Amino acid sequence: HAVAELVGVSKSYAGGVAALRSVDMVVEYGELLAIVGPSGSGKSTMLNLIGTLDRPSSGTVCIDGFDVATLSDRQLSALRSRRIGFVFQQFHLAAGRDALGNVADGLLYTGAGRRDREQRAEAALTRVGLGKRLTHRPYQLSGGERQRVAIARAVAGDPPLLLADEPTGNLDSVAGGGVMELLHELHQSGTTILVITHDREIADSLPRQVQMRDGQVV
Ligand code: ADP
Ligand code: ADP
Repeated sequence: HAVAELVGVSKSYAGGVAALRSVDMVVEYGELLAIVGPSGSGKSTMLNLIGTLDRPSSGTVCIDGFDVATLSDRQLSALRSRRIGFVFQQFHLAAGRDALGNVADGLLYTGAGRRDREQRAEAALTRVGLGKRLTHRPYQLSGGERQRVAIARAVAGDPPLLLADEPTGNLDSVAGGGVMELLHELHQSGTTILVITHDREIADSLPRQVQMRDGQVV
């Protein structure tokens, strides 16, 4: 199986808006790709479906070999914690927790003890170049560093899929370039990464892009 497979996927919202219309798409393990398209083209809807935050109106969504239609909400939430790492434009870090705590908290779902979680968090922060910033809180970090903490949190549990929603949207071009470089490095070391963006330049810098328009892949 693939890490994500969408077959004939449609999504309509209340009021009848067809946000996705019969989309087929496969993301293989080891890929680094962009979903790119203008505002309203269906990118967030794709993110929510692939991230198992929402279910399709019709068609099949399989993540890491699991058909989401066959899973209860509880099973879906377990799949999401274990198999998908999320990175957002707004870093979504806890202001009262230092970098180590933010990343360690992201591993609570594993049931591992604090010591174990902190060791894994330190390893993840080292991996993103923040091994010397473990005890810094978000306000003591630059925007680029905050996003690196968020990326460390997303990959600390080694999920098969990393979903990054406009990961550079809140950063200047230098910090944004650094974050994209980090995503390339993680990809080189085997992480599967899907970037959602409206930025054509970012999409062009990745090995593959899926272009969306009016709810369809073009
Ligand atoms: P993008 O992320 O590319 O901007 P979206 O997936 O957010 O696109 O939106 C696709 C279409 O679905 C748009 O027409 C949008 O207005 C509509 N839409 C998105 N979310 C909702 C919602 N919760 N309820 C109704 N319509 C929605
Ligand atoms: P936007 O790009 O519209 O500003 P976000 O990138 O913050 O929104 O969130 C995109 C989607 O992910 C939304 O549907 C939101 O509800 C969901 N989401 C936001 N934060 C988290 C989180 N920490 N874990 C899981 N889902 C989240």
